[in-house]
Amino acid sequence: MDLYEYQARDMFEKHGVPVLPGIVAETPAEARAAAEKLGGAVVVVKAQVKVGGRGKAGGVKLARSPEEAEQHAAAILGMDIKGHTVNRVMIAAGAAIAEEFYFSVLLDRAERRYLAMCSVEGGMEIEELAVERPEALAKVAVDPLVGIDAAKAAEIVDEAGFPEELKAQVADVIQALWTVYAEEDATLVEVNPLVRTEDGAIIALDGKVTLDANADFRHPDHEALEDDSETDPLETEAKSLDLNYVKLDGSVGIIGNGAGLVMSTLDVVAYAGEQFGGIKPANFLDIGGGASAAVMANGLHVILHDPQVKSVFVNVFGGITSCIEVANGIVGALETIGDEATKPLVVRLDGNAVEEGRAILAAANHPLVTIVDTMDGAAAKAAELAAAAA
Ligand code: GDP
Ligand code: MN
Repeated sequence: MDLYEYQARDMFEKHGVPVLPGIVAETPAEARAAAEKLGGAVVVVKAQVKVGGRGKAGGVKLARSPEEAEQHAAAILGMDIKGHTVNRVMIAAGAAIAEEFYFSVLLDRAERRYLAMCSVEGGMEIEELAVERPEALAKVAVDPLVGIDAAKAAEIVDEAGFPEELKAQVADVIQALWTVYAEEDATLVEVNPLVRTEDGAIIALDGKVTLDANADFRHPDHEALEDDSETDPLETEAKSLDLNYVKLDGSVGIIGNGAGLVMSTLDVVAYAGEQFGGIKPANFLDIGGGASAAVMANGLHVILHDPQVKSVFVNVFGGITSCIEVANGIVGALETIGDEATKPLVVRLDGNAVEEGRAILAAANHPLVTIVDTMDGAAAKAAELAAAAA
């Protein structure tokens, strides 16, 4: 889960990373009140969207009075930044920036460790810096068992080329940012810019944090950070039904049992879809080993609610749960959803007791169901039906 900047700011503060005061506002009037409360010569009105480059897009504006903060908030609220609607702004105390730096630590999956990146040239988009002046971006491997201790922090500020007089101060902030990363189970903590103010403070002026959902069980407080307003409503519905569902862009709804089978089903459908003008899978949905009628019905319910879905491919393998139970599950699910079943279903069943399972489906003789014996054949049929309905 990605956090909003204001959530990252709060998390930074909790772990001793220096940040400036910030107040969230949802209306121009709230923005004005927030600016009055913060006081100071300058406040910054910042769009809260989970996407970078807000500054360039006009989503970060300095205000020299509460009135000006109100005006900027009126302009920024409702703005579209790279496909994200701004529903909130953060009114932050203004900083007198002397220099802008960059720091991030992230999970390096390929190397099975963490990677810290740091530069004395912050502010601009880091992708640009990495391409145009790669030598200006220090990349330092971090051993997960050791983390960023004092020695590692010293190595990072050395590699990044900080002047002697700033090294100790920046290294302290980097260690505090490491605490955020480790204690909150993040996979990314990025600060751009990390600034030196004119009065010599080092402050995280922006924050991007991605939390590892696999560690949610260790962090009951993280649930409150979730925000459904940016999540796809189908994903929210699937989550409430305890389904392992990810919305994709295509038109063939997919249901399978087992993550590996579903992943390969997506590939097979995309491949078969090439013959029908680029038909693609509409979702990932793994209903797990059991494949009971209730779970199957929930899965069909979510998939049939997706207006992009034109056909559904049910690809189930009977293992410990035999095809007899799976077939009964499918028939039961179709009964449960009744009139909601409005799109053609292609079912491919294989594995333990496959003949009996197929016989059950054949006997049910549901008008929308086509039974195909092979995975490739079923994928082609589902793609063909989706193309015909488009
Ligand atoms: P981003 O564009 O989404 O990364 O948003 P940032 O929070 O990084 O803000 C963009 C830029 O706005 C920063 O790089 C700063 O140059 C500027 N900025 C943000 N806050 C302040 C502030 O308090 N004072 C000043 N002078 N500039 C700021
Ligand atoms: Mn930034």
